[in-house]
Amino acid sequence: MSAATDPRLYDLDDLRERAERENGGVVDESIPQLADADPDLLGIALVTVGGHIVRSAQSDARFSIQSAVKPFLFALALHDTGGEALDRVGIEPTGEAFDAIKLETGTGRPPNPMVNAGALLTASLVDGDDADARTERILAGLSAFAGRDLRFDEEVADEEHVLGDRNHALAHLMRAEGTLRVGADEAVAVYARACAVMVDAVDLATMGATLANGGRNPVIGERVVSAAIARDVVSVMATCGVYDGSGRWMREVGVPAKSSVSGAIVLSAPGVLGAAVISPPLDERGTSVRGHAVSDALSRDLGLHAFGTLR
Ligand code: GLU
Repeated sequence: MSAATDPRLYDLDDLRERAERENGGVVDESIPQLADADPDLLGIALVTVGGHIVRSAQSDARFSIQSAVKPFLFALALHDTGGEALDRVGIEPTGEAFDAIKLETGTGRPPNPMVNAGALLTASLVDGDDADARTERILAGLSAFAGRDLRFDEEVADEEHVLGDRNHALAHLMRAEGTLRVGADEAVAVYARACAVMVDAVDLATMGATLANGGRNPVIGERVVSAAIARDVVSVMATCGVYDGSGRWMREVGVPAKSSVSGAIVLSAPGVLGAAVISPPLDERGTSVRGHAVSDALSRDLGLHAFGTLR
């Protein structure tokens, strides 16, 4: 059997060496902890829907999950609201940057759950009466997706909370529209903690694999969300996950994904695998340059393009 049919045989260290030839991009500087990231860090992991884990060197390096948390916040909000979250947040791509100060015309809802406005809202919709209770719920949910107890870095969360002026602006705007029903500062605090959750590439690939496996974590066998929720989340990753680069991403890579300012990308190929890459230098749309190259190669080599006919 070749790697084209069996991801378990894929040599991720070889892919890693090829991707290291890809240069360019700049490390995000929005908070000191991200600005200090090692630009040469490159970790890759795959987790199949059969629960098999494939990893490269540096796949155990920890980083803050940042926006790669957004699909999972959406999933938890759908789960905890019994689907009502779908009425509270749009699902249309914006063609704009991740932190654009813009809501859906007419409804005042965030345009989709993959941009900051949407994730501020979905983080406010999970179970819990206050910020601490919602944080605990999010940590428990993300841990179930990853199959390991995850925690957030308090310093990263504090910096994001203090320095996230655009997130505060979005939260206040949604309060003014009546779409955000918790306090603006509280909403930013919970979202900042969710972005500060520390993961490695294997954790993130397992989270992507749980979505690819219809909501059941394939490594530990635990159901986290329903198959219907997993399908909804992956659909919105496909259309909105790479912000204003989502169209190009779908054409080139063809695998639903979510990018993040830490340089992480999580991919979810339904029925096949989840994958994650961490490499901090970003292109102008906030997508990891080497992460994009790795995703291209994975898609091509494993025949993962949703609209390709190789598989
Ligand atoms: N914590 C970041 C922010 O809210 C996440 C953005 C991203 O990863 O794209 O600005």
